[in-house]
Amino acid sequence: MRVEIIAVGSELLTPDRLDTNSLFITERLNEIGIEVQAKSVVGDEPNRLRAVFVHALERADLVLLTGGLGPTDDDLTRDVVAEVLKLALEYDARVFEGIERRFAVRGLRTPDINRRQAMVPRGATILENPNGTAPGLWVDHEGKTVVLLPGPPREMRPMIESVVRQRLNQCAGPVRLYRRVLRITGRTESHVEEAVQPLYSRWAEGRVPIAATILAAPGQIELHLTAKAPEAAQGQAVLNGAVADVEAALGASLFSSDGRSLEQVVGDLLRARRLHIALAESCTGGLASSRLTDVPGSSDYMERGVVAYSNRAKVELLGVSATLIAAHGAVSEAVAEAMATGIARAAGVDLGVGITGIAGPDGGTPHKPVGTVVISAAWIRGTGGETRTKTWQFPGEREQIKFQASQAALNLVRRWLLAERTDE
Ligand code: AMP
Ligand code: MG
Repeated sequence: MRVEIIAVGSELLTPDRLDTNSLFITERLNEIGIEVQAKSVVGDEPNRLRAVFVHALERADLVLLTGGLGPTDDDLTRDVVAEVLKLALEYDARVFEGIERRFAVRGLRTPDINRRQAMVPRGATILENPNGTAPGLWVDHEGKTVVLLPGPPREMRPMIESVVRQRLNQCAGPVRLYRRVLRITGRTESHVEEAVQPLYSRWAEGRVPIAATILAAPGQIELHLTAKAPEAAQGQAVLNGAVADVEAALGASLFSSDGRSLEQVVGDLLRARRLHIALAESCTGGLASSRLTDVPGSSDYMERGVVAYSNRAKVELLGVSATLIAAHGAVSEAVAEAMATGIARAAGVDLGVGITGIAGPDGGTPHKPVGTVVISAAWIRGTGGETRTKTWQFPGEREQIKFQASQAALNLVRRWLLAERTDE
């Protein structure tokens, strides 16, 4: 089945709004084995919408449109679709009663302009919208199917769920798509690609083929695997095999193959080992702590995070010695280590993390350029302990350097908790 999506709305052509509906729809369609061939974004302009719709209809068996079903003059999807398909628009009293009920619940009279939303192309099936006034429409016409859904995601999403469950499932073949997102850190995209490349052709030629795409962001590489299989067990089995292949190729730099983020993985490791963590952050400004606390239930292992930005804060809050800072500089392995040990001791926890660096754009020197970040993890055991400290050189601008530093800090903790002392 050839499928196209059209997102309608002038706001989607501005820098302020992104068409996210098509991503959600694609995800749901993929789950039942339907792939999207093309998608378009078009403003609330009838001539352009007509041209885009006519073109999609020539190429596809199923065209899904979202947006432009509202009551106002700029909501034109219904009219344009009816016009192109040469279907008369007929007033549907039951739809209008539904709209009136929604207003009545709020003690309001139904504005006349909402009558437009009760106009239905002849022969169309009405798709209930439990979260808004605009119903969706399903039109079977000359061998093609056209589906109209409202634009607001909270209205569109439950409707696509029910359309997929009740109507599209039958059109879809027995083959389903199974997906796995693999997350990798501590390696560049080209290093990951180099290590994984030999697997691609093997996966593609398997009895149940797997397609792979690689997505790179600073500090993290994602490998998206998709298997097409007639049965779930088969799809999952072949993906498990592929995950094992990647694990063998990349080792512990693969940190997640089940959808968890790095902060979740670290949190789960801490919880499983009944350990508590405290962080002292300078250049990351609390980002690593913030990410750890993004995870619900993080109070199980997160004791505190301190932003010790100035030298004075490092001395006063963490007990770092001023002479140490003077001797080595604030961005140094000695100071990062003293920060990690200092916060762990102050908090009375097992694990302390210290992060200090130069996020730029100013403050770099030839010896310590912008992007230099030193991270230390200290493991406290009684009066003694153990530290692990590493200096990184991150590329990019301030925001990316901060993120990569938080990522490296979380990963340092993860690697330690996995008791892997090998350097990446
Ligand atoms: P409409 O059905 O055109 O009245 O859409 C109303 C609102 O839904 C818009 O103002 C957007 O905020 C949102 N919206 C419409 N289309 C999309 C889309 N493709 N992705 C995300 N949000 C959308
Ligand atoms: Mg709109």
